[in-house]
Amino acid sequence: MDGQQPQIGDLRRNLDDVDTGIVGLIAQRMRLITEIGHLKEHGTSAIQDADRERKVLAGVEDVATELGVSASLVRRIFRELISESVAQQGSRLNGPAEGQLRVAFQGSAHSFSDAAARKHLATQGATGEPVGYGTLREVAAALLAGEVDLAILPIENTSAGSINEVYGLLREHELFIVGEETWKVDYCLAAVRDVPLSSLSRILAPPEGLEQCARFLQSLPNAVPTSYFDTAGPMSAVAAAGDPSVAAIGSVEAAEAQGLTVLRHSITDSGDNYTRFVVLATAARPVDARIACKTSVILSTRHEEGALLGCLEILSGSGHSMTKLESRPRPGRPWEYLFFLDFEGNVAEPQTAATLDELRLAAQYLKVLGSYPAKALRHQARPGSLPDAAETEGPAETLEPAETLEAVVADQAPPARRSGSHLLVDRASRAADTVVQVGDLLVGGDGFTVMAGPCSVESPEQIAATAKFVRDHGAHVLRGGVFKPRTSPYAFQGLGWQGLDLLVAAGRETGLPVITEVMAVEQAQRMAQGADILQIGARNMQNFDLLREVGKLDRPVLLKRGLSSTIEEWLGAAEYIVAQGNQQVILCERGIRTFERATRNTLDLSAIAVVRERSHLPIIVDPSHGTGLRRYVAPMAWAARAAGAHGLLIEVHPSPEQALSDAAQSLSFDEFAALMTQLAAVPGISGRRQDQAPV
Ligand code: PEP
Ligand code: MN
Repeated sequence: MDGQQPQIGDLRRNLDDVDTGIVGLIAQRMRLITEIGHLKEHGTSAIQDADRERKVLAGVEDVATELGVSASLVRRIFRELISESVAQQGSRLNGPAEGQLRVAFQGSAHSFSDAAARKHLATQGATGEPVGYGTLREVAAALLAGEVDLAILPIENTSAGSINEVYGLLREHELFIVGEETWKVDYCLAAVRDVPLSSLSRILAPPEGLEQCARFLQSLPNAVPTSYFDTAGPMSAVAAAGDPSVAAIGSVEAAEAQGLTVLRHSITDSGDNYTRFVVLATAARPVDARIACKTSVILSTRHEEGALLGCLEILSGSGHSMTKLESRPRPGRPWEYLFFLDFEGNVAEPQTAATLDELRLAAQYLKVLGSYPAKALRHQARPGSLPDAAETEGPAETLEPAETLEAVVADQAPPARRSGSHLLVDRASRAADTVVQVGDLLVGGDGFTVMAGPCSVESPEQIAATAKFVRDHGAHVLRGGVFKPRTSPYAFQGLGWQGLDLLVAAGRETGLPVITEVMAVEQAQRMAQGADILQIGARNMQNFDLLREVGKLDRPVLLKRGLSSTIEEWLGAAEYIVAQGNQQVILCERGIRTFERATRNTLDLSAIAVVRERSHLPIIVDPSHGTGLRRYVAPMAWAARAAGAHGLLIEVHPSPEQALSDAAQSLSFDEFAALMTQLAAVPGISGRRQDQAPV
């Protein structure tokens, strides 16, 4: 013991030195950003350069991987640094720092609103202590009465949706939007001391906390949840009561400020849970045209058919991309609506000003709430590409709007009879290729998407190592079975839900979306909460109940071809999914059963040409199950790409011989790396439409 103390002390001193060094490097980075900002002040170029940001993130992730540091951690840190840099350059262009500002928010100290207010002050280079008020209405009143310079109010949450009262305040009062902020809402559970969760009898939480941690709360059968007024209040109530059987839900900062012990971190049901705040003032503020802006308006339309559509067309026709459309009732006018519209653009730009004039003429009422620097924008999705092609590729093309479905979603009722004779999945129903969006990734169209990983998730180490390797060698999606359809009931059946958690964790760590097989109707909903793509396996291709179930979910589905199914039956199965409303279907050719025994299945590559002619859905190829033997996987993968497939599904394992399922067909890491290099040299024709393909 004695000998150890000085050692720990030394190490901690070293750690302190490293931390000081990190802060020093951040300061150095900020100075460089300031210098670049000076140059931009004299130019006309935009402050934000998405391409450059992507390269910076990819570069630091590579370094992290080389050094054995979590790429996901490094990505998160650099995202923060970059957004801070952009905000700093932006506020410089917009004039000098504002000095002391009084900002009102709803709630008490250490609530998420307080944190967002502080973040806003910091990015403005301003100082000041945010002031908490009891209700949203009181915050607006304080701003209107001149008690404060700015107010910051939550307007939407990425899981709970819009906060209607704030829309009401914007409609009722002379308030203008001068900024927005986002805050990651990460709830924890805390109590006066460390107690087992089973001993808790009551849990205090703000209403939105109860809603956003519902699944976690269900896992505590003995505790009664109680709604409390704001995000920090429950923590102070628990601290004041001093009763160890009562816990609170709130931010870690609020728990720490009250001297509470955190019993469980990150209990929010959806990991990516953000609240967007609007910063309000009593007058609009001009923003430099080089800063990427959003503009918000309130609009009511004339009593004419297609009036709203006409207004939206004015925006899209002038290249203004809409980021949000919210409809709210018009008080005192039953069945009439006000629309709150956000779009990318800045009233300081002549083109946006002209578009607003046009909108004024088309609408019955229009109020411009203001233009402000955009902080909450969805990431631009990109098609999958092979390593060589990545550098030369331009930005993703915009997606075709989804076609309207005539299908009904009634439980077991057949979809309404369609007017035409074609299936919805037929090329005749939709001329353009369907491109399926998986997070920031586009599958289909011009892209080539590689999904890779083990047949089965076997252990944390196995899936984590495979995820890192395939990501570093160009894969776009991580695969891994957790419920396995095995021929023998005595064979390894998969790790089940525990396997899903491991797969999802590996995906998060590497930034890869994940795909896994759903075998039963009862699994579908829960699977969709973790998996980014739901796989329907060959054996379930005609499990019509399962197809209908995934057709009701808002999750991309990969539909494998059945072992002895014709292409017509396969497209019929896809129709079951699409007819329920879910058009995000990717087909996967994985070989069919023929008299041939030299390979596990006979990979039907002609299906690529046939499917692309008959259907608008993307098609990828699985040469692993298609051949069953690892030495044939690469040649069939090249052939699939050359024949026009939109991607591949490949089984990869750190030690294939030891794989608990499909050992003979799994590629080793080296074999996968070699395949990816060779693939880039094979010309794909996936970008061309069938009628343009060489014959
Ligand atoms: C799999 O992908 O692991 C699988 C079981 O595939 P298939 O349904 O094509 O046999
Ligand atoms: Mn398999």
